[in-house]
Amino acid sequence: MPNTDSWVVHKFGGSSVADADCFRRVADIIESQPPGRLGVVLSASRGVTDGLLKLITLAEQQDESYRAELAKLRARHATIAETLLRPESARLYLAGFDRDCHDLEGILHTVRLTRAAARNVSDLIAGYGELWSTKLFHRYFEERGGRPGAVRWIDARTVLVVEWGPLGPAVQWSDSHEKLAEAVGRDFRGTLIITGFIASDGRGVQTTLGRNGSDFSGSIFGALLEAKEIQIWTDVDGVLSADPRRVPDATVIDSLSYNEAMELAYFGAKVIHPQTMAPAVGRNIPIWIRNTFAPQKPGTLICAHPKSALPVKGITTIEHVALVNLEGAGMIGVPGTAHRLFGALREEGISVILISQGSSEHSICCAIPQDQAVRAAAVVREAFSRELKEGQIQNVDVDLDLAILAIVGDGMAGTPGVSAKVFNSLGAASVNVRAIAQGASERNISVVIDGKDATKALRATHAGFYLSPHTLSIGVIGPGTVGRVFLAQLASQMTRLREKFKVDLRVRGILSSKRMLLSDSSIDLSRWREDFESRAVPADLDKFVEHVGVDYLPHTVLIDCTSSEDIGRHYQQWLAKGIHIVTPNKKANSAEWSYYQALHEARRTSGAHYLYETTVGAGLPVVQTLRDLRDTGDDITSIEGIFSGTLAYLFNIYDGRTAFSDIVKDAKQRGYTEPDPRDDLSGMDVARKLIILGREMGLKLELADVKVESLVPAGLENGTIEEFLAKLPRYDAQMRERLEAARGRGKVLRYVGRLTADGKATVGLMELDAKHAFANIALTDNVVRFETRRYCDNPLIVQGPGAGPEVTAGGVFADLLRLSAYLGARL
Ligand code: ADP
Ligand code: ASP
Ligand code: MG
Repeated sequence: MPNTDSWVVHKFGGSSVADADCFRRVADIIESQPPGRLGVVLSASRGVTDGLLKLITLAEQQDESYRAELAKLRARHATIAETLLRPESARLYLAGFDRDCHDLEGILHTVRLTRAAARNVSDLIAGYGELWSTKLFHRYFEERGGRPGAVRWIDARTVLVVEWGPLGPAVQWSDSHEKLAEAVGRDFRGTLIITGFIASDGRGVQTTLGRNGSDFSGSIFGALLEAKEIQIWTDVDGVLSADPRRVPDATVIDSLSYNEAMELAYFGAKVIHPQTMAPAVGRNIPIWIRNTFAPQKPGTLICAHPKSALPVKGITTIEHVALVNLEGAGMIGVPGTAHRLFGALREEGISVILISQGSSEHSICCAIPQDQAVRAAAVVREAFSRELKEGQIQNVDVDLDLAILAIVGDGMAGTPGVSAKVFNSLGAASVNVRAIAQGASERNISVVIDGKDATKALRATHAGFYLSPHTLSIGVIGPGTVGRVFLAQLASQMTRLREKFKVDLRVRGILSSKRMLLSDSSIDLSRWREDFESRAVPADLDKFVEHVGVDYLPHTVLIDCTSSEDIGRHYQQWLAKGIHIVTPNKKANSAEWSYYQALHEARRTSGAHYLYETTVGAGLPVVQTLRDLRDTGDDITSIEGIFSGTLAYLFNIYDGRTAFSDIVKDAKQRGYTEPDPRDDLSGMDVARKLIILGREMGLKLELADVKVESLVPAGLENGTIEEFLAKLPRYDAQMRERLEAARGRGKVLRYVGRLTADGKATVGLMELDAKHAFANIALTDNVVRFETRRYCDNPLIVQGPGAGPEVTAGGVFADLLRLSAYLGARL
């Protein structure tokens, strides 16, 4: 039997009560809670506290527009009230609201005249948001009548007593207990609707718990009511490993200790207020952080002894930080320097966020909020004026525009390698480290960095701890014949690769010539065509590359499955940026020599990988074989072969009985040729492949150096494809003659490319012995014959299907996995 006497406190943040739908959601959540007494603490609707504070600023500036701003706040609440409440109830609510507006106008009028609002005045004004949201919700929830027991509105100012001190608001527990007991009798069984954020001081003057203070209200009421649990409802699935606005693939942390949560909150994880934990810790009350918009999700549990194996729980940053650095040989061995430094800062009410001192005691530095830097510098110089004058202290430096990156987790204690990982990640992302502090608890490593590097640093360390180091952000350019098949192959292996080898391949963009599909996480490859149809936006190559190249994933690779020269022209700049490239596109590698060189220079300088095995012989290991031979000291004498699957097919089939032109037409229909068969017949495709191999051999070759015999008859080079095919039969007799002549000599015709060590490159139709290796290949086979110093008597031959989407895509995929291995994956 659940104990229906016990309390549970739920707190809903501003985003959870932003509009009428939100209020409905909150009511649904509360009604679905198990039986028992409930305290429901609400923030002001999103933006209302900011709006109220703005009224003060405007009035101080004597800007009359505060009236219009106030009217906007009223309109927002009126819309919600009129949507949710019965007309009479809405009328009563708004009548109350108007009385508040009247009071507010009076106060603001005074502020306008005096041009300054005292602290208690601004606290009073800022607190209206919570009064408005809770009064509205109270009426609404009561009207729904969906939960047994009474529904009572509690104005926290009548219950909660706090005194502000140097460490913030201190709860006066016994006073507060007494007042709560008066307001809520022991036998109350029902739901309390409580204002967050506001309280009173010992004299009964209204105060607040500071910005974002409703979380604190939630846990204070949890403690006062001796709740068995506190649930903080917000707009994210729980405490995330990093701020999701900065690290889009941050993950939900299942559980945290109070200490971990405290450190994360202190170091800027906005989802919880740093003081929230204190009341809960003493009484061991578990806190849940949950999503109002996805109440079915479990959220994050914060408790004394969470079960979680992760050494690092979260990574956060604090920005707008300054570093005060005190340096001088005179400090060495002199006791009390630190005391004087921090004493001086404390006197000025400057809070110190982080302290670091080298064991040499030659310098000591501390991080403080930037807006206090000028004052800090002045007081420290003042405190050490004598030492500065006498030269025992050389300098008091203040560096501005810094940030602190904090890595938090109880499990870091005693886990070697955590800081190594932090600094490796920062080093790899070229983030300069200015100062470091690690608490003796080893629960937190804090690193001071340049403010402009904050997001980069956050993303890099987050990737270091949360992602497989072999996570690749992939962009596929050209989802045509090969691209499509590649995506299908990848889809079929992705889960296995991730689970077995931790290789996390995320296709985050697909770009065609006209449109592109982008995804922040990963495109669902089982349905990318539908998504492309419905969601693709106009293509923009720069935007595409920028999207795929996000810096919160460890590596980026672009897979170019086009045959576009234009795309090839971008490789140099991509490689220079460290983007890896995998491609079957020959255009870049067979462009002019200077570009080829620049391309490879960019790759060498940035360390990016450029893989293009499929530019020659599709999936066959041709480029890699050649590279292995050269790298191991072999000398290539010649490379010879049939490099075109299309031309191989044409001459394998052509036996003189069917006209050559008919074979070409048939091959085109079967999809064995390029859309324009002249692209194959011209021999240029083979010439490009020879150039690629020649350059791989170290030869400085240009396309113009290759002697090409084109099979496109002179005069038919231009004109449409149809005209070409219509005129081709006129040349059938010529081709037949060549075949007969060869046959007469016991030979066959084959279209062969040949390259020798002295740089001679030829491409053309050759007569080969009927027993020659090239004469006995099947259909679209490619065959490449390497004659080398080692393979001289009996050459090395690579042979097999050298065209077709399946084998080409397979080769591209193999290159991608090779890339993963280069990046450290153990496949
Ligand atoms: P509420 O209105 O519910 O109080 P807040 O805006 O104060 O919500 O806090 C929730 C927001 O905190 C999230 O929307 C998220 O953008 C931000 N945030 C920053 N760091 C983290 C983190 N580590 N985990 C979760 N959310 C975070
Ligand atoms: N409404 C207050 C603020 O915006 C308190 C809170 O939302 O937690 O700071
Ligand atoms: Mg908040």
